[in-house]
Amino acid sequence: MQSKKTINQRELKHLKDALKSYRYDKKSKIKVGIPRALHFYRFFPFWKKLLEELSCVLILSPHTNKQIVEEGAFQGFGELCLPVKVYYGHMLYLIREHPELDYVFVPRYVSERVEGYYCPKFLSLPDVIRTLPNIPKILTFTINVKENPISNSIISLAKTLGKGQREALQAYEKAKKYHKQYQDFLRKGTPVGYALKLVEKDKPFKMLKKKTPKNIKFLLLGHGYNIFDTFVNLDFQKKLTRHGVDVLTIENLPEILFKEPVIINKQFRPYWLHEDEILAAIRYFLVQGRNEIDGVIFLISFACGPDSLIAELIMRDMKVIRLPFLQIIMDEHTGEAGLLTRIESFVEMIKRKKRKLDEMKEKQDLKIFEEA
Ligand code: SF4
Repeated sequence: MQSKKTINQRELKHLKDALKSYRYDKKSKIKVGIPRALHFYRFFPFWKKLLEELSCVLILSPHTNKQIVEEGAFQGFGELCLPVKVYYGHMLYLIREHPELDYVFVPRYVSERVEGYYCPKFLSLPDVIRTLPNIPKILTFTINVKENPISNSIISLAKTLGKGQREALQAYEKAKKYHKQYQDFLRKGTPVGYALKLVEKDKPFKMLKKKTPKNIKFLLLGHGYNIFDTFVNLDFQKKLTRHGVDVLTIENLPEILFKEPVIINKQFRPYWLHEDEILAAIRYFLVQGRNEIDGVIFLISFACGPDSLIAELIMRDMKVIRLPFLQIIMDEHTGEAGLLTRIESFVEMIKRKKRKLDEMKEKQDLKIFEEA
């Protein structure tokens, strides 16, 4: 029989070996930096799985903070929208704090669907980022299904990393599967911030405990980088929750709502993919889902052309169905006090409206009861 001491020594040796091989593994892996900005909020689970399967180790920039915004705004020029300035800030952080990076990952998203495009800022991202001083090599792929299947883009990305076609396609399949699991998890009502945390920590998709529903529910519209970056939006969702509001975002809605593109009229179809998604969500709440929410808030970045255009259309629709609508335009100077006042007055207005409706209903029920 082995003594306790012998077993411990063995275990220790095993641990040492494991640590050695882990260190070796880390050294041999390709270090790739990812800015926690822009499409991070939409595609990170896919990228993570894909790049890790292709032997990369990922280094993320931290959550957005004051320094990141200030540096990004300084680097960004003129009328550039805030999310791109924030992206610059994250990239500058990675360059400064992680000289060990082999690459920074800057994908080019052109189109994921034959009928539309991503915003031009996404199309040109690797080109503008390339001009930053001391930038490491850029690892990129181009997603443009109008010209190329996504698998081809993955194969060429994998080639840059020294991997063959078979490894590329296997990694792609795993990344697709994982991303689908992530999206299904969100559709069960999970907040994006929480789900991303699980992805980052390699934890399973475990649902949060169900909370008692609040009296008011809003649909919060906007790009992921506006509504899930809590520094940029001054923790907007938490402010709503504190005022007794449940929040729904388009990531929580069923996939079927987004299958058919929106046709506004014969001459006008939404050209931008994300704007089309927002309008598809609105299309649902205009009719079938009208009574599921009490109001709509649209968070927009200052200088965002696509969002300003559809905000006007949504406002008109909301007037027709008498659903309260609030549009908030943010930039790097947006103040906490002003934002809070707008939230408070919007929520108060809806509470009053609901009280009035309840009173009217009560009176009507009483009248029916008396007449009976
Ligand atoms: S969609 Fe608007 S906010 Fe997003 S990158 Fe383009 S201009 Fe900026």
